[in-house]
Formats: sequence, structure tokens, C-alpha cells
Amino acid sequence: MTTTAYRASILHSVADPAEVGVEQSYQYFEDGILLVEDGKVARLGHAAELLPQLGGVEVVEYRDALITPGFIDTHIHYPQTGMIASYGEQLLDWLNTYTFPTEKQFADPAHAADVAGIFLKELLRNGTTTALVFGSVHPQSVDALFGAAEKLDLRLIAGKVMMDRNAPDYLTDTAESSYRDSKALIERWHGKGRLLYAVTPRFAPTSTPEQLDAAGRLLREHPGVYLHTHLSENRKEIEWVKELFPERSGYLDVYDHHGLLGARSVFAHGVHLCDGECQRLAETGSAVAFCPTSNLFLGSGLFDLAKLEKHKVKVGLGTDVGAGTSFSQLQSLNEAYKVMQLQGIKLDPFKSLYLATLGGARALELQDKVGSFARGNEADFVVLDYKATPLLDYRLRQAKSLEEKLFALIILGDDRAVRATYAHGRAVHQRG
Ligand SMILES: [Zn+2]
Repeated sequence: MTTTAYRASILHSVADPAEVGVEQSYQYFEDGILLVEDGKVARLGHAAELLPQLGGVEVVEYRDALITPGFIDTHIHYPQTGMIASYGEQLLDWLNTYTFPTEKQFADPAHAADVAGIFLKELLRNGTTTALVFGSVHPQSVDALFGAAEKLDLRLIAGKVMMDRNAPDYLTDTAESSYRDSKALIERWHGKGRLLYAVTPRFAPTSTPEQLDAAGRLLREHPGVYLHTHLSENRKEIEWVKELFPERSGYLDVYDHHGLLGARSVFAHGVHLCDGECQRLAETGSAVAFCPTSNLFLGSGLFDLAKLEKHKVKVGLGTDVGAGTSFSQLQSLNEAYKVMQLQGIKLDPFKSLYLATLGGARALELQDKVGSFARGNEADFVVLDYKATPLLDYRLRQAKSLEEKLFALIILGDDRAVRATYAHGRAVHQRG
């Protein structure tokens, strides 16, 4: 048995502040110990209490650092890594101008393997240990990503895009081939190590009803796999869905009709949802990925977190790279704070921590595995550096409370604030 103790300040969410209040939502150990046995969380507590009980266990000490659970990204596109920061379009033109030509290159397995390596490295540099990831339409894109993630023993969910209309010929499959290819990928990868599969129709406009039926069939035939798609991001997109599916009462109803809602269904964006849609998401246990940097960058709108909270919809945090502008969930939370400010609402830093960790785990139904330091959870964690930059160091020395420190870390922090990232108890990134 491999046992290691990590000593630093340690903070994790134990509940949603919206449900229990901020004070009851987290646990904090100013001088704490996280004991990891065989990749799992064995104990968490105050150093003064635990150190005398550790015997000969190795203690790794991080000074001026805060350990939190690894960040969870509930929506990201790995093929779009190389087109992050592309200028000037809203959603539908963005897809045609940048996305489709970029994703075409993933027909080549060597290219896919290159980008998969860059992508995973970037996630880990930013402290993200779990992500729900879009591949491209090519099954080999998903093989490349899962192959690389398996070597790092990551808890990762991904899937091949299903897209059989309203996209260039070079990037479309058919209802039948998408079913067949997705099924083969599920059999090859779902449950292998810590990897999980998501059935991934891009969004309603690029799938025929026949393909959405095939997606529903995959979910029914393979309990435990996920559904990952986009929903109500942009007003023009919503109008287009109405034209394409006049027989349905709304965007969400298209997915609902084809059996795509459920506890493992994650819908990215949901910027423009009505109350009825929020209710339906909640009653089916479906989750929404809040992607602040993307929503601002593409001019999609302001996510109404308060409305989703009111309806008790599960919400995770997503970067949506490449429309999102950063792999850093600290930067996502920085932008989330501003999105809320524009709506006259304060986003508490402990709620932010929850969204990036335990909230994301709940959105992905993984709360018994990652997202907090509950005993027995997989030891995925990040070591954040209070002295990452001169300004952060100076600002944090002025801070009088944990809340103030955490907030400044979120607003000023990015990949530079990540000193180390651990997955399943193993260091997978150490800042140089
Ligand atoms: Zn997206």
C-alpha cells in the first residue's frame, strides 16, 4: 500500500451554499493533513491532531499553499484547443468560420494524438482533473484522447460528435454510422480505468430526428453512459431550432422527445431557458454547464444562475474552450463573478469553489468519486500557490479572512497559481 500525507492549508466544499448556507458548505484546515492511501482519500484533519498518528508515513509539505479538490470542467471541446482566441463571430458563424475547418483535421489520428497531448497537459497545468469533453465527429479523435488520458489515469468523460446535417460533408456522419461508431467506442472505453463515455450529438440543428433517436437508443442500451450536448446558447440558434423542429414546443423538448434527459445528461450553456424548461431539467435530474468565458466571448448572453438555483437544476462550471477563452477554472470563476454582477447578484467565493469542484461532480453524478475530500474519494487535488505572482502575494498578505483570500485567488489566479496537480494520488503536473 502506498501512503502519503500532504500538509498545507486545505479547503473543500461539502455542500451547496444555496442549500445549507455558506458557513456549512465547506471545511477548512489552516494547517491540515490530507492522507492518501493507494490513490484514495484516507483521512483529512488538522496537522496537530494527525501528525502524531502518522508513524513513518512520508509527509509532503507545501508552504504558502492551499490544497483543494481538482477542478471539474463540465464542458470543453478538445479539438478546438488550437482555435482558442479566434476573432469576431457569434455562435453560428463561429462554427462555420472556425470550428468546422479546425475539426476536419481530426480525421488524422496522428494530429488527434498531438492535440490530445497538448489538451490534457493544459487541463492539468490549470488544475483541472476531470472534464466532460467533446471530440470531433471522427471516432479516432476519441481513441486518441482516451488513450492519452488512460496513461495519466484520469477521471475523464468524452464522446464522438454525432452530426448528420447542416455541416460540411467532410464532417458529417449518418444516424446509422454514428450509432455504430459510438457503440464501438462505448464498448472500448466506457469504464476502462477511470474513463467514461458520453453520447455527444453536437446540438439539435446538426442532428436529424433519426440521429437523435439513435442517441436515445445508445443511452437506453448502455446504462451509465452520459449525454453531452448544447442547449439554448444563442438567440439565432434557438430560432433555428424552432424552424427545424416546428412540431416541438421548444429547444429542450426536442431532446426530451428523443429520450435524452436524465441524471447523466449535461447540457452546455442554457443561457435562455424558460421556467418550464428549468423545471423539466430539474425533474429529470439533468445538469447544465455554465460557461461564463464562452458566453461573454461569443456574446451569447448572461447565464441566470439564480433561476436555475431556484428550480434546483444541477449546475457545473465549464470552460467551453475554444469559444471559452481560458482553460483555467479560476478565470472562469472570475468571469462568472462579473456575469453575476451585471445581473445585480453577488457570487460568493465559497459558491464559486463549490461550482468548480463538488457542484461539477454532482452535475456529473461523480460526487462519490471526486469533487471533495470525503473519505474513500479518489485523490484528485490541486495545490494552489499563494505566492504565484508578486501581486497575488502582496494582495493575499492584506487579506484578513479566508473568504477574502479565496476571492482574491479566484480573481487574480490562473495557471500560474497551480503549483502541482495530483490525479488518483499521483503528481501529474508540477510547475517548473
Ligand atoms: Zn461547446
